[in-house]
Amino acid sequence: MNVNQSAPPVPPFGQPQPVYTGYHQSSYGGQPGSTAPPTPYGAYNGPVPGYQQTPLPGVSRAPPSSEAPPASTAQAPCGQAAYGQFGQGDVQNGPSSTVQMQRFPGSQPFGSVPLAPVVSQPTVLQPYGPPPTSAQVTAQLAGMQIGGAVAPALPPVGLGYGPPTSLASASGSYPNSGLYGSYPQGQAPPLSQAQGHLGAQPPQRSAPPQASGFTSPASGGPRMPSMTGPLLPGQGFGGPSVSQPNHVSSPPPQALPPGTQMTGPPGPPPPMHSSQQPGYQLQQNGSFGPVRGPQPNYGSPYPGAPTFGSQPGPPQPLPPKRLDPDAIPSPIQVIEDDRNNRGSEPFVTGVRGQVPPLVTTNFLVKDQGNASPRYIRCTSYNIPCTSDMAKQAQVPLAAVIKPLARLPPEEASPYVVDHGESGPLRCNRCKAYMCPFMQFVEGGRRFQCCFCSCINDVPPQYFQHLDHTGKRVDAYDRPELSLGSYEFLATVDYCKNNKFPSPPAFIFMIDVSYNAIRSGLVRLLCEELKSLLDFLPREGGAEESAIRVGFVTYNKVLHFYNVKSSLAQPQMMVVSDVADMFVPLLDGFLVNVSESRAVITSLLDQIPEMFADTRETETVFAPVIQAGMEALKAAECAGKLFLFHTSLPIAEAPGKLKNRDDRKLINTDKEKTLFQPQTGAYQTLAKECVAQGCCVDLFLFPNQYVDVATLSVVPQLTGGSVYKYACFQVENDQERFLSDLRRDVQKVVGFDAVMRVRTSTGIRAVDFFGAFYMSNTTDVELAGLDGDKTVTVEFKHDDRLNEESGALLQCALLYTSCAGQRRLRIHNLALNCCTQLADLYRNCETDTLINYMAKFAYRGVLNSPVKTVRDTLITQCAQILACYRKNCASPSSAGQLILPECMKLLPVYLNCVLKSDVLQPGAEVTTDDRAYVRQLVTSMDVAETNVFFYPRLLPLTKSPIESATEPPAVRASEERLSNGDIYLLENGLNLFLWVGASVQQGVVQSLFSVSSFSQITSGLSVLPVLDNPLSKKVRGLIDSLRAQRSRYMKLIVVKQEDKLEMLFKHFLVEDKSLSGGASYVDFLCHMHKEIRQLLS
Ligand SMILES: [Zn+2]
Repeated sequence: MNVNQSAPPVPPFGQPQPVYTGYHQSSYGGQPGSTAPPTPYGAYNGPVPGYQQTPLPGVSRAPPSSEAPPASTAQAPCGQAAYGQFGQGDVQNGPSSTVQMQRFPGSQPFGSVPLAPVVSQPTVLQPYGPPPTSAQVTAQLAGMQIGGAVAPALPPVGLGYGPPTSLASASGSYPNSGLYGSYPQGQAPPLSQAQGHLGAQPPQRSAPPQASGFTSPASGGPRMPSMTGPLLPGQGFGGPSVSQPNHVSSPPPQALPPGTQMTGPPGPPPPMHSSQQPGYQLQQNGSFGPVRGPQPNYGSPYPGAPTFGSQPGPPQPLPPKRLDPDAIPSPIQVIEDDRNNRGSEPFVTGVRGQVPPLVTTNFLVKDQGNASPRYIRCTSYNIPCTSDMAKQAQVPLAAVIKPLARLPPEEASPYVVDHGESGPLRCNRCKAYMCPFMQFVEGGRRFQCCFCSCINDVPPQYFQHLDHTGKRVDAYDRPELSLGSYEFLATVDYCKNNKFPSPPAFIFMIDVSYNAIRSGLVRLLCEELKSLLDFLPREGGAEESAIRVGFVTYNKVLHFYNVKSSLAQPQMMVVSDVADMFVPLLDGFLVNVSESRAVITSLLDQIPEMFADTRETETVFAPVIQAGMEALKAAECAGKLFLFHTSLPIAEAPGKLKNRDDRKLINTDKEKTLFQPQTGAYQTLAKECVAQGCCVDLFLFPNQYVDVATLSVVPQLTGGSVYKYACFQVENDQERFLSDLRRDVQKVVGFDAVMRVRTSTGIRAVDFFGAFYMSNTTDVELAGLDGDKTVTVEFKHDDRLNEESGALLQCALLYTSCAGQRRLRIHNLALNCCTQLADLYRNCETDTLINYMAKFAYRGVLNSPVKTVRDTLITQCAQILACYRKNCASPSSAGQLILPECMKLLPVYLNCVLKSDVLQPGAEVTTDDRAYVRQLVTSMDVAETNVFFYPRLLPLTKSPIESATEPPAVRASEERLSNGDIYLLENGLNLFLWVGASVQQGVVQSLFSVSSFSQITSGLSVLPVLDNPLSKKVRGLIDSLRAQRSRYMKLIVVKQEDKLEMLFKHFLVEDKSLSGGASYVDFLCHMHKEIRQLLS
């Protein structure tokens, strides 16, 4: 990676700094870094208030990977992984060669193109017109070449995440390969259990050997209140839009003479085509020109819309001319351009309203007053001054915030500022925290709040003189006066009950019913925990983690274990009264790992044996969470529950569920019920968990429907994670499960958190999306928050904004660290404001816009028919683009589609969201898959939604084997596949290796160690370890891709023309999908029509 750090004139807080995370770290003073200025942190040690040397626990340095346990080394093998980038590639996708393509009509301000019927894109060649102005050309070329991989992703549609049925059920070989895992059918456990059977079995029944005292609940624990409240905040769309600089009008589409198809760099401009060309013309009545061959008509996804491909309209005599896919905006090109243009220089945050590089670009960040884009990304960095303008543009104004985002090793973690007993300095009126935007006045004795304008007194101990510019002379010595992100140590006033918190605890709660035992899960898990417990998160260079651990096993009853260090053997206590859950022991339940190691190891050795012969198939679920939460409450600490669960909880108990899966509801008004929890009990429980700071991570191992929509309610509302391994079998899935588990257990988490987003006068946060709970309209409550979770916040105007002062955001997160320290993390961001719509469109970020729109839509399905949700998205997208066309683009033929440069990928990405399994499921997608994905997307950051909705497709044999960088990606379409090549496709959750039927024998031999294509095992999930350059390169690339993602991606080898290929094709999102999703070309035509209707 080329991350240059051009020795910047960095102020005090140089670059390398302490960091958070890892297992060890350095303290303040001696930074290893060399770039640090001489007295870099002087101020911190000084007599001055704040920064004592006290090695703050939290501040440390290592990146996640450092010293991590074995598995976790996930970070970045190839030295580039983590923030993944590829070097410069040389491959270009699409024919167009960088340079020539640009021929813009010089005059167009935003580069609109003349007639072309469809889209505009910079790289496309222009039919006629004057040569591009230099400015345009520059803008265009700026980003071109490079072959980086791409990241955008689309959700698969069509085939579900499981293997195609035909195969699935057939051979047991793939049952689990399903993307989200589908169930093979028929793996029923011995007992007839299955759903609906409430059979009551004697609770103690499977009690393990040494069960000792069954204490009966001495004190009845709290009861589960019945709940009903609403869960998710939220409501409709309507957001702000974004814009980006370097706005080049979208290149004009290209019209080709009928029959021709463009590939390769376009030659001289073709004769001008009038908008009448047969093939391309978009007709008013909605029929769009011909569509490419293989896609028949694109039927009904959009209700009132005419069909695309073959339309009823006026007969089209000529064979349809196909719209050249190379003439429409290419995600790959945009990504590569950005990498070329912005990947080499650090992104310095000192300037207000700067649009950061794309999430797919590898870049370093230097904090000079605004939060890094790793913490906050906005849909637009230039906000309309008035709500009328915002409404006109329809561009959602939103920020995707990842408060505890992990940073690459080269970047410093936020400094921790300690103001002692007086605590952080805040505005008396709006309570905003001291930040670089506060204005000191009256010689430094007072400061004016940048959020509400209130004038506040500066406390004596914080006083400092101002220099001739009005700036405090100590500004660069104080993080809170010069950086975009930093932390404050919180005082006891910020703690629950005015008491500093105890260190958090982790409780492992293991399902030991028949399915869990039979699949080998329990044995595998217990074995793994023995070593994994040595890697619990710690901070501040602590030798060991402050986190205590506890263990519970369960089926229809719960078994608590006393693992006190003084015991020779662990003791078990059974609680069979699941309706009135209580914790049977306090002393000895939560223990320090090193102190109780022997007892814990003994317990983990015994658990698989104790339940080895169980016949119990029924489980409870809510009582398990209740028990964990009660245990934390009794211990007066926050913490996390790790639940390992296998089945629909049908045993008689609170939170009992029934199988209500019904695919017939799809596409009906009742479809939304499939996404809603079937009982309010879990919401009530979640609320109690949040109050206690009890976060729940759920690992599911279902063999059939388990009602993910209901089971994921508590994890979702407590800031937890859900993992799903359908038809789990140790042989096939152990690597994936263990990898996820290790990462999950080790990651740094903030507990018992509250996040508040303050804004300057004129706008305010009105809506929130993510995994959290809200009991009022402003505070986002998070029982737990890790470095992977994001909260998307939407803003609306409540007054007029001012171009001069801009708009400010301040996100404050109050949380308890892994070591039990109460802290406040502050992120500040200043945005520009505009009175011209063009400025809005020039400063937006489509990837962030898509993140917001997907979350908005995925929440919408809880309350509205899926079709309504899709229509809303389409309408909004059309309005955004129509507003641009009407107000910002230069006049041009109506037959031309003109897209703002920063939003030229909006149609292709939005189409991917529309085709996703949640919004348009294929026949193979299960109800649980949809609920699972819906829940996952809710917490994704911008990079994750990008690759999830538009997968990355990498050709493997085109680039030189020696090349250390990732090969340049190609567009996710079948026509980009060469049968003589091999490709990797990934979307953050799934990973495929597609092998073309004509691949050279040598390649086959090198990678698979077999002599011919036909001998390659379809569905293979592990490549043989062979000692040759190609094998090493491919395996290295796979490792690198995995390291970039927050979840382990299991590999599936797919052969061309093989049955499994259907599964793979599901991810070729530019193509028409089996479930009816439109191809990119068709959707673009449809969008064009919608826009024209709005404009006429
Ligand atoms: Zn204020």
